[in-house]
Amino acid sequence: MPSIIYIISLIIFLSWSRNIIVSAETWCYDTVNPIDQDNPTPVRCPAVTEKSDNIFHDVGINPGASTNMFDTSFTCDPTTSQTTCDKAKESFEKAGEIFTSVLSLNTPIRINASLIPLSDDTTLARLIPLKCKDKKIRNFPQSLVKQFQFSTHPEYAAVDIVAVFNSKCNFYFEGDPTITPDQIGFLELIVHEIVHGLGLVTNWKPLLNSKTVSELTPALNLTSNSDSTQPVVYYGFIETIFDSFIVTNAGDKFSNFTEQLNDFTPYGTKFQDQSAFISSFINSPEYNISQMVLSYSQTAYSMVFLADPHSELIWLESNINPYSKGSSISHFSMEIYDNTTDFLMTYIQHPGRSLETALQQNNATCIIGPKLLYLLETIG
Ligand SMILES: [Zn+2]
Repeated sequence: MPSIIYIISLIIFLSWSRNIIVSAETWCYDTVNPIDQDNPTPVRCPAVTEKSDNIFHDVGINPGASTNMFDTSFTCDPTTSQTTCDKAKESFEKAGEIFTSVLSLNTPIRINASLIPLSDDTTLARLIPLKCKDKKIRNFPQSLVKQFQFSTHPEYAAVDIVAVFNSKCNFYFEGDPTITPDQIGFLELIVHEIVHGLGLVTNWKPLLNSKTVSELTPALNLTSNSDSTQPVVYYGFIETIFDSFIVTNAGDKFSNFTEQLNDFTPYGTKFQDQSAFISSFINSPEYNISQMVLSYSQTAYSMVFLADPHSELIWLESNINPYSKGSSISHFSMEIYDNTTDFLMTYIQHPGRSLETALQQNNATCIIGPKLLYLLETIG
């Protein structure tokens, strides 16, 4: 039964002047299988206090800092050749080195990666709700929360990012002979997916499980159990830290939409069952907001990520109509960034293009583009 109850709060001032309150009694949301991201499992993640020798007191200075702060455990489908498996593993090493060289990481990030006969997907193993300076609760990826180095924090899951790659896909690995037109560059793919795992992820998704999407809302915090006919309790909609920086072309913050949606009914309101909640919500004036956000998500040039402190505008993908879950909102605009130094986070990766060619064609020196760096700096 998920709920967000705050018993003990600690205000921790971070080196970059953001203060975050860590709750002692929290429900986190785990996704064990990236293929099933729509049904994260609520799990208790009570506050734990680190032993003092586990805390790096000087944020940004890690005495054990290495060239690779990513610790990847890698599993290969038995039908995949050892050579391919080794190359994939090497690519993760390389990706870890790339991130370590451009990000200021102080705590290792654990990835559980597999090359198996399933579609490519990546998920944050655990989303952790934290109360931000503006008193609003948002979901943070565990990989990011760890970098905050709270002495007391919600309990962490064993891994930060779970990534699955399809072993049946024709991948090109760095160092292979010339890429063929149907091959996908594996290194570019995994760096893209790890960026999602570091927090470029939205909680705005369709609420109703219908064929045609009619609305988008942030993740719903509704107590539930296996019996959908039992009473449920409403604890609001919750956005991700990424979502909190989205602004429409009319200047409206997505956070304000979340706030308005949360006015739908007071926290703690009980409904007879899940159907009663849905029925009440879709008949409320707040439902129009969720329809409006869907409309923004499928209108070109309608939303930006407003990076802070540089006030950089990053246009987000809103030109797929109808809305496409997993592509819309949580990517850089394809039209604007596909042929720029920020090509990495568009929703389509070009087959037949190696990373080396992508960098050359776009006059880029690093796969992590300047705007993406601003974004990552803003959320973490
Ligand atoms: Zn993506």
